[in-house]
Amino acid sequence: MIFECDNPAAKPEIKVGNVVLGGNRLVLIAGPCTVESRSQLLETAIAAKEGGASILRGGAYKPRTSPSSFQGLREHGLELLAEAREITGMPIVTEVLDTTQLETVAAVADMLQIGSRNMGNSVLLQKAGAMGKPVLLKRGMCSTVNEFLLAAEYVLEAGCRDLVLCERGIRTFETATRFTLDLNAVPLLKRQTWLPVVVDPSHGTGREELVSPMARAAVACGADGVMVELHPCPADALCDGPQCLTPEKFHDLVKGLRLMASAIGRSV
Ligand code: PEP
Ligand code: MN
Repeated sequence: MIFECDNPAAKPEIKVGNVVLGGNRLVLIAGPCTVESRSQLLETAIAAKEGGASILRGGAYKPRTSPSSFQGLREHGLELLAEAREITGMPIVTEVLDTTQLETVAAVADMLQIGSRNMGNSVLLQKAGAMGKPVLLKRGMCSTVNEFLLAAEYVLEAGCRDLVLCERGIRTFETATRFTLDLNAVPLLKRQTWLPVVVDPSHGTGREELVSPMARAAVACGADGVMVELHPCPADALCDGPQCLTPEKFHDLVKGLRLMASAIGRSV
């Protein structure tokens, strides 16, 4: 295992644009689940920035369970993300669904997101890892921590020096929440690797009222950042509305994270 030896590539702090992940300061990644329109993205991006986020998330290519669900604005979504970066100064993380999109997505993204459904796609892992861009790798919803680590190895072995792991919840017998956020994984991954770990309590719970408490719990157990979904009007969201925070609720979440961070000697 790449993580078991004294790896010269080991780098606990990585940079996405001018944002450091893995340092004492926690990083907030926020934005819409899906880029839906110019006004929706810009409103959300500005609210994310004002609330304290430093990286903007947003899907242009969406992995949807149903083929009849909205699949994303694709190239136009990327153009809008580039405009949002121009306006807010925040670097962009956005998902790449397959190898044919890599060049197009990498031309805009500051960080390539590999989603839960693609964590085991070894060809995508290798090609994304060779793009010379930071990579955010989300845990497969049915993957063990060990399988997650092996997927991370593919990305690192392809030459990526700037890899961040994201715990986003796993499938269990529990149906009261969309997934079960496996916070055990956070201290485990921090012990077993040198990589920054972020937690996504939006997908991990699927319920906006649980996002803030689980974000605080993530910070308490050692996460280097959290990634959350925002929408100006969650009831109108084209994807994942029930787990999207309003800008006001995001402000409250950040207040709670600041208190939690100071309790453990970190900052937001
Ligand atoms: C996302 O973060 O946009 C997403 C689709 O999440 P996941 O891959 O974890 O389901
Ligand atoms: Mn989503």
